[in-house]
Amino acid sequence: MSYKQPDGFLSYVKEWEEKIGAFIELSGEKGAPVSQSPPSGEKPEDGGALPRPGCPEKAAALIRDLPFAVKDNIAVAGFSLSCGSKLLAGFRSPYTATAVRALWAAGAELIGKTNLDEFGMGSSTDNSGIKKTNNPWDLSRVPGGSSGGSAAAVAAGIVPFALGSDTGGSVRQPAAFCGVVGLKPTYGAVSRYGLVAYASSLEGIGVLADSAARARAVFAAIRGRDPLDDTSRDPPAGAPPLYAPADKTTPASTGGDPPALSGFSIGVLSPEAVARAVAQTAASGMNAGGKTGALEIAAQAAELESEVRRGFELAKERFASMGCSLVDVEIPSLKYGVPAYYTIAAAEASANLARFDGVRYGRRPPMAENPGELVDKTREAGFGDEVKLRILLGTFVLRSGFQDRYYLRAQRIRAGIKANFEALLGGGYTGEGDAGGAKNAAAPEKDSRAPRVDAILLPVFPSRAFGRGPSSLSAFAQKAADLYTCCANLAGLPAISFPASLEGGLPVGVQLLGRAFSEAKLLDLVEAYEGAYPFPHPQGYRAFWN
Ligand code: GLN
Repeated sequence: MSYKQPDGFLSYVKEWEEKIGAFIELSGEKGAPVSQSPPSGEKPEDGGALPRPGCPEKAAALIRDLPFAVKDNIAVAGFSLSCGSKLLAGFRSPYTATAVRALWAAGAELIGKTNLDEFGMGSSTDNSGIKKTNNPWDLSRVPGGSSGGSAAAVAAGIVPFALGSDTGGSVRQPAAFCGVVGLKPTYGAVSRYGLVAYASSLEGIGVLADSAARARAVFAAIRGRDPLDDTSRDPPAGAPPLYAPADKTTPASTGGDPPALSGFSIGVLSPEAVARAVAQTAASGMNAGGKTGALEIAAQAAELESEVRRGFELAKERFASMGCSLVDVEIPSLKYGVPAYYTIAAAEASANLARFDGVRYGRRPPMAENPGELVDKTREAGFGDEVKLRILLGTFVLRSGFQDRYYLRAQRIRAGIKANFEALLGGGYTGEGDAGGAKNAAAPEKDSRAPRVDAILLPVFPSRAFGRGPSSLSAFAQKAADLYTCCANLAGLPAISFPASLEGGLPVGVQLLGRAFSEAKLLDLVEAYEGAYPFPHPQGYRAFWN
């Protein structure tokens, strides 16, 4: 590790890492490359036009000279790029993701690659083909997933921030399980160049951080249009700025000083109503002859654990006491979100993972008689069960003659969810007459597309970090429990998860979701919450940086 460690840092990292196993590769250890700085001779056309615009000094000050970690499905030249898969174990990336280069340019130092559910498929990190990662709050529990290694590393204080990826909740859910901030940006706000594709239309690189201010800074550093990713975009005119222009001292978004929340209106999604709707949908499916066991599990999985409900209620009360106006809202299509998400995600995964054939990347079987056998043997030995399941599911829903029944229906649900959110939050920023929340919240209802609320408050996951063995959630229940996170991905909207409270010794996260490119507003809300109710740390945590 070439990062200039403060006294005691190296032994601190070692001690924690032995307990939690957050890293697949820690820089400088076991033949791993030493931490990197930006390669010299970068050209803008390589995605190297860095630092990215809109990363002011205020942001850089929270990044510079600090160590960071990157989920092992994001490419860094010379480092492991295993994607948590046996198939790619030991594979080293020949190039670097734009987001990582942006952090280098802002002066941060990469210290390692973190563990994940294989190819990002899972909610526990236990689907990793490489190793297990433990939750720093309770080593017998999972850190969540799929970015569990990144979340655990931040929670333990090994790094102040880390990159993860979020396709259906993989940044926000582990952030909630580990008690850190998890930001899933607007689709396209951060370049996906260098992120190994799982479900391209849903996923993006996200930020796990020890504070909202840090999450804001890291997001400011990595966001923006990248010529190497045609789906990436700069924020549109009219989107709230992450930081006030340098010449003003009292910005709408303060980026550091807790803002007043009196103009904010928050739509509150009732978890009880959602659970009821899911149960009703499941019951009608059973009446129609659907698979009883699976539908029952789906209905149960939607119910919040009592501690999570307490944390959610507390967050509501606190936002109200900080001056926000709270209104009840509904997302009628949410109850169909999980089946739609898994249909689309599996369909895209089955296409994206076709490249792992033993020819181009990764491990190969010692012997094969012909190319077909080579591919078969590679995939049989290399992919874990969850990955195989999703490839099968994906090819199933895409079979000719069946697309209407599954895939196209899922796309219609996706459109419905998007429309539900737009009715509450407004559509994208247009750059005109769209200056911000307080004004819009007070706007008359004559335009049905006018936003009614600035953000929606909802749970992250129905349970706190779960244990292994009998106390674990089944793989199916874990999927059903994605209902609160996957809807942001289906709609392409930003959402942020943060620690609302500590219940029974474990963090409970809640989530704020906003219209496209409203990250600044979400961060304002979280920063204010954190200012009033500082985030907790696990026992043994030591702060090495501000
Ligand atoms: N639990 C989700 C899944 O397994 C999360 C995926 C993700 O965001 N990468 O698909």
